[in-house]
Amino acid sequence: MINTLPAIDVRRVQKSRLAATDLHNLKFGHVFTDHMFVMDYADGAWQQPQIMPYGDLEMSPATLVLHYAQTIFEGMKAYRNGKDGVALFRPQANIARMTRSAQRMCMPPVPEDLFLDGLKALVALDSAWLPDGKDGALYIRPFMYASDEYIGVKASMGYRFIILMSPVRGYYQEPLRVRLEMKYSRAFPGGTGEVKCGGNYAGGLYPSKVGQDAGYHQNLWTDAMEHKYIEESGTMNVFFMIDGVLTTPSLDGTILAGITRDSILTLAREHGLKAEERKVTVEEVVHGIRNGRVTAAFGAGTAATIAPIKVIGFNGEDLELPALEADSEVHHLGRMLDEVRRGVVADMHGWVVKVH
Ligand SMILES: *Cc1c(COP(=O)(O)O)cnc(C)c1O
Repeated sequence: MINTLPAIDVRRVQKSRLAATDLHNLKFGHVFTDHMFVMDYADGAWQQPQIMPYGDLEMSPATLVLHYAQTIFEGMKAYRNGKDGVALFRPQANIARMTRSAQRMCMPPVPEDLFLDGLKALVALDSAWLPDGKDGALYIRPFMYASDEYIGVKASMGYRFIILMSPVRGYYQEPLRVRLEMKYSRAFPGGTGEVKCGGNYAGGLYPSKVGQDAGYHQNLWTDAMEHKYIEESGTMNVFFMIDGVLTTPSLDGTILAGITRDSILTLAREHGLKAEERKVTVEEVVHGIRNGRVTAAFGAGTAATIAPIKVIGFNGEDLELPALEADSEVHHLGRMLDEVRRGVVADMHGWVVKVH
């Protein structure tokens, strides 16, 4: 096939900040690599793709995104893979999801092959920023925003697409205390819960703060219509072990289709673990913890991979889940996923995309 992708203009930093950065002490999402990928949409077309030094943007205070939140994003990681390699994990799935987000938010999708090309070029250029060790990764944040300059509720004509990268470490996380949210909602039928648009997260901040003030790390969101069904945990998908079956809420339009979620379901089924996607009620989880039928719960997402839940707060009562044994199926799933991403075991699904 003839490669018709436009060549990316690359303007490198004069002096890397890497030597002055402590990759052993990283606060998640606070440190950025030397370069970023930038591409504008104007006059109905994507313009010249560029890689340039990471730095501030200048924008008009009338820029549309600042007023009406027409903005979408993605989150994925690059890992060390094999002896000296670096690889992205399922980037095509993130790209496809960003295309769906763009459609829902009335934005032009980024051409998928150009998107992947930009990711690979950026990771290759800044791969020295990937922290060593088993838990190091580059967290990659593609995003797009409405860049027109006027005050009016209308889809923008112009957009800017950017990819940033942040070196991260899987810090030790204590098991989570989560609270069933029975009043506020993250998403509702017909809304935007199934896409990664900025406004979803702004709307969740206040109910999350209420939960945090009451001593919980995050909320266990329930459906907006009846607060009867469990949907997600904070900004992660949620899984329960119910009667020995790995169970997660089915994707019904209000739940974000996590790539970690899909990977866990796939690996679980291949390894003979029964896994179900279905509606999960608040009642069955509350009763199930009391009578021992629910034996584990965890959040799943790119940032944390698997985040075990130890307490679920319900109407002022703390329901405790048993501590996970080191050889539990939950930890086993997390390890399997990690081994695929890092090239320790063979990639049977075409999930791993080598950068070099
Ligand atoms: C990003 C996200 C997830 C997890 O998706 P991954 O692809 O696994 O990282 C789950 N829920 C919400 C609300 C999210 O924004």
